[in-house]
Amino acid sequence: MAADTERQEISVIDSSLLEFCPKDVAMMWLQATDLPKEVYKHLAYYVPKIYCTGPNPSILDDNLIVQHVLLGPLEWYLCGEDPGLGFPKLEQANKSSDLCGRVFKVGEPTYSCRDCAVDPTCVLCMDCFLGSIHQGHRYRMTTSGGGGFCDCGDAEAWRKGIHCQKHDPGMSGTAEEDPLSHLSEDMIARTYNIVAIMFKYAVDMLIWEKESELPLGLEPLDKGDTYYCMLFNDEVHTYEQVILTLKKAVNCTHKEAVGYATAVDREGRRAVRCGDYQFCEQAKSVIMRTPGRQTKPLKVQVMHSSVVAHQCFSLRLLTWLSQVIGYSDGLRRIVCQVGLQEGQEGENSSLVDTLMLNDSKLWKGARNVYHQLFMSSLLMDMKYKKLFAVRFTENYQQLQRDFMEDDHERLVSVTGLSVQLFTVPTLARMLVMDHDLMSIIIRTFMDHLKCKDAHGRFQFERYTTAQAFKFRRVQSLIGDLKYILISKPPEWTDKSRQKFLEGFENFLELLKCMQGMDPVTRQVGQHIEMEPEWEAAFTLQMKLTHVISMIQEWCASDELVLIEAYKKCLNVLIQCHSGFADGEQPITLSMCGHSVDTIRYCVSQEKVSIHLPVSRLLAGLHALLSKTEVAYKYPELLPLSELSPPMLIEHPLRCLVLSAQVHAGMWRRNGFSLVNQVYYYHNVKCRVEMFDKDLTMLQAGASMMDPNHFLMILLSRFELYQLFSIPEYGKKFAAEAANKDIVQQNNILIEEMLHLIIMIVGERFVPGVGQVSAADEIEREIIHQLCIRPMAHSELVKTLPEDENKETGMENVIERVASFKKPGLTGKGLYVLKPDCAKRFSLYFHHYSRAEQSKAEEGQRKLKRQNSSDTALPPPVPPPFCTLFASLVNILQSDVLLSILRTVLQWALEPNSYAWSESMLQRVLHLIGMALQEENQQMEINYEENGESFNFTQKVSRPGDAPENSPSILTMLETLQNTPSLEAHKEMIKWILKTFNTIKKLRERSPTSPLTEMDRNLMEENCTFKDKVERKRKAEIARLRREKIMAQMSEMQRHFINENKELFQQTLEEPDTSTSLLTDASSAVSNAALVALGPDQTKVTEKRQVVICILCQEEQDIKVDTRAMVLSSFVQRSTVMSKNRKRIIQDPENYDPLFMHPDLAYGTHTGSCGHTMHAQCWQRYFEAVLLKEQRRQHRTRGHTSYDVEHGEFLCPLCECISNAVVPLVPSPRILFSSDSQNSSEHSSLSRWLRSVSQLITSLHIFHEKNNKSDNQLANSPESKDVQLPDNFKTDINFKSIYSDSIKEMLTIFGLVVYKVGLKVNPNEQDPRVPILCWGTCAYTIQSIEQTLVDEDKPLFSHLPCRQEDCLASLTRFSAAHWTVSPLPVVQKHFVRLLAALVPDEKAEKSPCILDIDMFHLLVSLILAFPAVHCQDILGFSVHTGDLYLFHLVTMAHIVQILLTSLPENTMDQEISSTEEEVAVAALYNILRRHTKSALKERSSGWHLWHNLKAGILPFLRCSALFFHYLSGVPPPAELRVHGPNHFEHLCRYLSLPTNLIDLFRINSDATDPLIQRWCTITEIDSYLKNENIAISYPRELNRLIELPNDYSALINQASAFLCPKSGDKSRTPTLCLVCGATLCSQSYCCQTKLEGDDAGEDVGACTAHSFICGAGVGIFLRVRECQILLLAGKTKGCFYPPPYLDDYGETDQGLRRGNPLHLCRERYKKLEKLWQQHSITEEIGHAQEANQTLAGIDWQQL
Ligand SMILES: [Zn+2]
Ligand SMILES: [Zn+2]
Ligand SMILES: [Zn+2]
Ligand SMILES: [Zn+2]
Ligand SMILES: [Zn+2]
Ligand SMILES: [Zn+2]
Ligand SMILES: [Zn+2]
Repeated sequence: MAADTERQEISVIDSSLLEFCPKDVAMMWLQATDLPKEVYKHLAYYVPKIYCTGPNPSILDDNLIVQHVLLGPLEWYLCGEDPGLGFPKLEQANKSSDLCGRVFKVGEPTYSCRDCAVDPTCVLCMDCFLGSIHQGHRYRMTTSGGGGFCDCGDAEAWRKGIHCQKHDPGMSGTAEEDPLSHLSEDMIARTYNIVAIMFKYAVDMLIWEKESELPLGLEPLDKGDTYYCMLFNDEVHTYEQVILTLKKAVNCTHKEAVGYATAVDREGRRAVRCGDYQFCEQAKSVIMRTPGRQTKPLKVQVMHSSVVAHQCFSLRLLTWLSQVIGYSDGLRRIVCQVGLQEGQEGENSSLVDTLMLNDSKLWKGARNVYHQLFMSSLLMDMKYKKLFAVRFTENYQQLQRDFMEDDHERLVSVTGLSVQLFTVPTLARMLVMDHDLMSIIIRTFMDHLKCKDAHGRFQFERYTTAQAFKFRRVQSLIGDLKYILISKPPEWTDKSRQKFLEGFENFLELLKCMQGMDPVTRQVGQHIEMEPEWEAAFTLQMKLTHVISMIQEWCASDELVLIEAYKKCLNVLIQCHSGFADGEQPITLSMCGHSVDTIRYCVSQEKVSIHLPVSRLLAGLHALLSKTEVAYKYPELLPLSELSPPMLIEHPLRCLVLSAQVHAGMWRRNGFSLVNQVYYYHNVKCRVEMFDKDLTMLQAGASMMDPNHFLMILLSRFELYQLFSIPEYGKKFAAEAANKDIVQQNNILIEEMLHLIIMIVGERFVPGVGQVSAADEIEREIIHQLCIRPMAHSELVKTLPEDENKETGMENVIERVASFKKPGLTGKGLYVLKPDCAKRFSLYFHHYSRAEQSKAEEGQRKLKRQNSSDTALPPPVPPPFCTLFASLVNILQSDVLLSILRTVLQWALEPNSYAWSESMLQRVLHLIGMALQEENQQMEINYEENGESFNFTQKVSRPGDAPENSPSILTMLETLQNTPSLEAHKEMIKWILKTFNTIKKLRERSPTSPLTEMDRNLMEENCTFKDKVERKRKAEIARLRREKIMAQMSEMQRHFINENKELFQQTLEEPDTSTSLLTDASSAVSNAALVALGPDQTKVTEKRQVVICILCQEEQDIKVDTRAMVLSSFVQRSTVMSKNRKRIIQDPENYDPLFMHPDLAYGTHTGSCGHTMHAQCWQRYFEAVLLKEQRRQHRTRGHTSYDVEHGEFLCPLCECISNAVVPLVPSPRILFSSDSQNSSEHSSLSRWLRSVSQLITSLHIFHEKNNKSDNQLANSPESKDVQLPDNFKTDINFKSIYSDSIKEMLTIFGLVVYKVGLKVNPNEQDPRVPILCWGTCAYTIQSIEQTLVDEDKPLFSHLPCRQEDCLASLTRFSAAHWTVSPLPVVQKHFVRLLAALVPDEKAEKSPCILDIDMFHLLVSLILAFPAVHCQDILGFSVHTGDLYLFHLVTMAHIVQILLTSLPENTMDQEISSTEEEVAVAALYNILRRHTKSALKERSSGWHLWHNLKAGILPFLRCSALFFHYLSGVPPPAELRVHGPNHFEHLCRYLSLPTNLIDLFRINSDATDPLIQRWCTITEIDSYLKNENIAISYPRELNRLIELPNDYSALINQASAFLCPKSGDKSRTPTLCLVCGATLCSQSYCCQTKLEGDDAGEDVGACTAHSFICGAGVGIFLRVRECQILLLAGKTKGCFYPPPYLDDYGETDQGLRRGNPLHLCRERYKKLEKLWQQHSITEEIGHAQEANQTLAGIDWQQL
């Protein structure tokens, strides 16, 4: 209580404040001798007075008093005149800025240009983008995370298109000028004075740490006992914890607590209690005591109100400064000057330094405000930006240290400003050259990674959580390093070389700590106990990948730098090697007469590490030496002689062997961490600076070695040396190996080793290694990806390494190698490899995984087979090596390799020699192929030398040395060609032999004369000619074989038919067994005569109808007295056709649904998948589902796609979501047709009406009597007076004709419709049950009719089977339902329904005819009528009743349409001429008379008739469908197709005159009084006077909202959206596609309870909205994610691909790629149709069945 009274006291505003005059104060200040003192006095007096007036001191920011009393004098002083005049003057004098500098809000769209931006951090705001040239470029779009500003106008950010139209300085603005020159001396002095005081005041206050004292000069006169209990934000505690704590500590409601927590999260602090010191202290201690899982308590402080007041004003002041400097560059410069001026304490004491150095101590709100000021001042002034950058660099180490301890995100840390400074190329270069920035960053980084092992390498597994946290933070430094490396120096100087190389040395130090980290040793025997930590090291490697690549680019840009860097790198590598001597002993290897010394080392036994960044950097530099030709130009400057090739290859080779052994399964016991490491080693994210470089290093080393030596070392490291060096070793090994696994492992090792040799010789697509460009490399990569399968753009991007600008370079080359295939309605656009690129396919492409390799192989063979060429996949012709690597080709003809090849071929020839594998053989053949290609090429290049240096053909023709007389490789191949078990390799061997012969021929001819071009062409042609002949022969064989098979097949078929003749006969004769009933039942009846209702109804005989139960597969007749058959169906409430989404059923228990309003606000829709079952079978099935579900829920409490508690189940056949079953019954009007067709039918509407009203009177009496007989034993006087007429059957011994089983199902389905339609508990006794059954029939027909119109389909014949079955059974069910309802209930409904058209004083008041949907009324009347009719014996037949009821409702509808038809807006057509036009005009005039001319005068009968026809057509079409299913009369052929006289045919089928107005003429005696009555109800009047908006006809089909073509328009729109509850930026703005509302989804602030569900849980904004807008079904677009959200009920939902596609035909869910997105109308249409056809719930069901994780999402929170 105390708190409340205090609050009121405080909030009284001192009225003296209003009389305050800012001008007077400013004038006094101008005279003052000690200005600071005066100003402080002013602040000391007023600030606490104004700011400490309420429980929340920070909300006053926009307060007028603040402006008037506190800021007013400042502005007066500054301007020296009325600021209202002064500021505009300043603004005018100011040259308009050519920098945009707009600071981004969270969620605002930002644009970058991939063609022109210097780096991806250069962005534009939407306005600038739209006015820039980049619109037509390849731009990227993202949503800002907040912070950062628009770079428009920054010459260093853009290569082209620096300015948008708005910020274009034009001709004049290029010259640099002093911004102060626009200001007067006086003004400069004044501004300087006041800014200096105020800026210092603000900074002092923000960093003030005392809780109840103030700086000198600010002490308040009267320091009262008012305090605030201030709660601060941290990133440790969750929302829930804070809310819980606050509820306890300050006794607030949940809602208040949520408010506090939100504010703390947003502002960084919030006063949660205000009062005397004790009172606040008490709250503080409770908050501090509250235990949480965290060790740290929440930060809370009790502060004196005056301290809080001054801090609040300080923030306002800084914001004010940001605004004021917007008026003038001069003011901005002064603020910058003041900010950077050194203070009294000397170095680092400027205000800017002070703020930066205190950053981590400030709360979020304060940081945001001063960062904003920095951005709008220091960063917008080029001169001071530079000075600021220097200050930032000087403080860098300290700032980073603070950031490590700070628990706020980088977004609100001052360190985040680095992106604004370091990405500016000139600044970055200046900082690197003059301020050692590169070294500072790397050293700071190293400082924070202290944990190292004995060798000085990083050791991450020892990290504590705190260190791990730090490690995450420290990674942002790598980002900074990346920024400064983005732009290479345009020219090098001695100084810049020196500075860069210093930085490079520091960088090498870092890499040195990584070289050999996380070593592993193979585990034998036991599996490792704990997976070792490996992610940290890989994270570091991944983050550094781009930096390493960029440093290499820097090196490559200057020859001297490259040479020095190479030397330094080599030095460090040598140091590393001296570090790890693993007790390696020297050994000698010898083979084929060659021998080499190496060390004994086994990867499988000793330590090995996958991290070798120093080796890899050297490999990269080595390739660059070759690429830049430095190696050839300055060999004397390079330490090439110091290189020890065996030393260079040692560690990379170990790493590759490790990878091979892991593949071979030798390291299984080392667990998943190693498997993961090897995976990443090859992965696209790491491979550029890992696997690829290891390969390059092997190539570099091997090129400097004797190939035989190299191969022997290779064999030795693969632990295969013995196998290949000792003859017969293999045989022995295979025989002796106890374990088959060992042999298997060995085989894989051999395969891997052969693969490695293939790669070392064959991979030449690195610039510098082979004579290729970077584009060639990408091109080859793409070709090989597309050889696996066609791929979408995004998939392809993922397989290519990205550079630091997130570019792959793919766009430049893709057109050359692939063609684009556009997507259809689903799926993505795909790139398909161009056919002529297939020949560049290499089966052993180094980036293929084994799985990819086999897929590609399969695909390529298939392709070749389709082109009916041979299926050999020979190696492609490679580009030549660069000189430095040229000697690598000699590996192919080295003795050791030939020996290896020979050995494998030998194994293949002798089946029992060794357990060799086909993969091995395949690789050997590939190697031979490569050698032949090489020889062929060498001869072409230098045929004068006759390719003497490379003569593979000669070597393979020679017989082997050992064993004696072993055949030559060539002979072996020839033998293998005919080995039947090697069928798969036959084509390849054939290709080899053929190529061999070609080369041989070339060699034979060349000594005399080099082969001429013509010869060669001839040869090739010969080849192809032979191929052609061969192909033709093969095709012929294939054709013959096909024919033979066909012949066999048809023979078999004949047999089958003969054997099963009877069966076939049956199927031909048997009637259609589908449930589609009565199609063409009576083709004998001529179409013209087809009439669906009334006494003239076409007579049809019920056809036998048979359906099959999907559960027991038995057939069943549909009859009235058999076991019930049911149709699986789904009933849902719907607002799809609603014309008024604001209408809500407030009180479902007492809601009267008898009359449907024409706005169709709520309906009940029934849909079905069309599958039928026995009722019994279904019941058993459903019980089983229930049981299963109960059991399941005990185990796991998750949601499923269906909710059994609401009776939901999945159709047993198609898994479509269902919640009810419709019983199948025969057409009711056929059943009744026999009863009274004979009675005198020549009657009139008036006679029939009289008779009906008589009947109704009797009913009234009868019911009264019955009621009374129940209550008072029939002794009332009236009841004796009135006698019931004779023809009234009092003893209705009405007996249902339906079997019990059918009756049960009628009742059950009726109840479901009632329950779902009204959202109430089932109640069999409720009189509204039949109403809802009729309602769902009418609503479903209307809904289907609308979609047919929309799709422009004729009424009949185009319904899908399932809809047709559903409508038929639904109509018949509704017609039969009255038989299971209490007769009096249905009769009462009929009486009330009829009273709406025909007055009946005994009935309750009925609505006016403009408030009734006539089709609903018709259906209800027709379906209720039999219940009345059955008590009448002398009157008319049911058919007569149908007809007159139909005519009556039709006339009412005509009146309705005419009353609401909109006036014509065009010139009159010619005067009414046709009979219809005259008649309708006459009728209209009658209506005008009745409405006392409230109806506007209309002269054009043509127009009226036109309106009427259009307006009534939907009603007639719905009626046609309805009566068709009711009576079983087939529709005339004309209604099944599009045709001109649709209207006339409809009228005939419905027994209506074509001139509808004739209805009134024929029945004038009955209708005249009715019309008058219809028009004179008071409600009509208010409609006509436009007090109520009436629905006009035809009602149009509802559509989803219009979406903009460009997605960024939506993002922009959403970024402006504020949460309606908190007034904040919404984190997940979500658009309702049904009504266009934007919602604040997935957020605490907007959770609510559902209407009428006060006990339930809180639900998110989307769920809540879907219940109002879509009766529980919702279609939303999550704007920031670009994702469609479908919701149904509280528990069901799924995501759905958005209708926005990029240029590559792909969606971008989550906006991760940022390509421009455009609306795909077809896809949006598809989504719309899903909604219009009530299939959203079904779609969700299918999605949830397909993806079980969807069921686990808490959809109602969204
Ligand atoms: Zn801009
Ligand atoms: Zn601009
Ligand atoms: Zn551009
Ligand atoms: Zn069955
Ligand atoms: Zn189904
Ligand atoms: Zn909506
Ligand atoms: Zn909200």
